[in-house]
Amino acid sequence: MSRRPRLLLDAEALVANYQLLAQTGVQATAAVVKANAYGLGVDWVVPTLVDAGCEIFFVAYPEEGVQVRSLAPSAVIYVFHGMDRSNLELYRAQRLRPCLNSREGIQLASGEGLEPAIHVDTGMHRLGLCVETLAERDIRACSPSLLMSHLVASDQPASPLNMLQRSMFVSWVSSLNMTVPCSLANTGGILLGAEYHFEITRPGIGLYGGSPDPSCVWPARAVVSWHAPVLMVQKVDQGASVGYGGTWIADRERVIATCASGYADGLLRTLGNQWCAELHGIRCPLVGRVSMDLIGIDVTEVIEAGFSVGSTDWVELLNARHSVDAMAAAAGTIAYECLTRLGPRFDRFVTHSNQPMESV
Ligand SMILES: *Cc1c(COP(=O)(O)O)cnc(C)c1O
Repeated sequence: MSRRPRLLLDAEALVANYQLLAQTGVQATAAVVKANAYGLGVDWVVPTLVDAGCEIFFVAYPEEGVQVRSLAPSAVIYVFHGMDRSNLELYRAQRLRPCLNSREGIQLASGEGLEPAIHVDTGMHRLGLCVETLAERDIRACSPSLLMSHLVASDQPASPLNMLQRSMFVSWVSSLNMTVPCSLANTGGILLGAEYHFEITRPGIGLYGGSPDPSCVWPARAVVSWHAPVLMVQKVDQGASVGYGGTWIADRERVIATCASGYADGLLRTLGNQWCAELHGIRCPLVGRVSMDLIGIDVTEVIEAGFSVGSTDWVELLNARHSVDAMAAAAGTIAYECLTRLGPRFDRFVTHSNQPMESV
C-alpha cells in the first residue's frame, strides 16, 4: 500500500457544481479546463463534464486543446492564447477555435473556417483587442462564433469596474450588427447576476469547489480531499521546537505526527503554523514550517480524546469542512493557486457515486 499523499476527487461534486453554475438560463455553460483543469486532472474532469452535458471547453494553449480533443471528440474547444502562423495548422487539424487577440490573428483566421472567438479588451489590459481598432469588415471576414471579454474585478461585486466593463462590452456588441453569441462571465461574473451572463458563461474555479475570492464564498461542493499519511508519531517536551527554524515551540508536552505532504506537493509554505488537519473529526494544528515533503501535525487532542495515532492513519488537509477557500485565506492567496499547485506525487483517485474508487 502506497504511503504517498492521496487526493480523492469527487466526480459527483464536480457535476453538482457544474449544474449549480449552469442554472442560469444561458444558452450554454462552458467549462474552463486550462492548467490541467486547475490541477485536478483533465483526464477525468473533461469526460465527467461531457457526461453532465457540457459541450464547450476553454483552455489556455493549443497543446492543452489537443489533450481535451482526445477526451472529447465532438466538443467545441476554445483556446485563450490566440493563434499565429506557427500553430494555425494545429488549430485546423484538431478543430480548435482560437480566441483572437490581435489584428494579425484576425487576418490569419479570415476565410479559414476556424469559427474563432473575438476577445475584446474592456479594461483588463491583458489579452484582448482594443475595440476602437477593430473594423466590422475584418470581424465579419473571419466569421466569429463568439464575442468575448473578461472581467477585471468579478470577485469584488461592489467594484464599479463590473458595470463599466459590461456596458462597454454591450455597446461594442450592439455596434456590430451581427448575431453572434457573447460571453463575459467567469465564475465571479456568474455570481454577479443575470445581466452578466449573456449566451455563454465560462466558469473555472467554481467547478472545482473554490470561490473567486476568499471573501466571495458561494455554496460550492468540495471536489478535492487531501489525505496525508502519518509516518511517525512522537512525544515532544515542553519547550521543544518542531521543524526548520524552530518556529513552533511546545507549550507543554505534546504529541506530534510527522505526515507526508509538503510544498513540493503544493502545500504552500505560508501555511506553516497557519492551518489545521483533521483526524477523527478533530482539528489538529499544522505546527512549524512546511518542509518540501513533510509537515508536523499536533495530534495531542486526538490522543487525549482516547484515540491512538500511528503509521496507518491519514490526516485530512482538505475535505468538505476544510475548504480550499479557507486554505487559501490562511495561506494569503486564492483557491486558484492552492489547486493549481497540487503536485505530481499524489496517488489520485476519482470517486463516483455508488461506484468503487477509480485510480487515475
Ligand atoms: C481562467 C479564465 C476564466 C475562468 O475564470 P474563473 O475565475 O476560474 O471562473 C474565464 N475566462 C478567462 C478569459 C480566463 O482566463
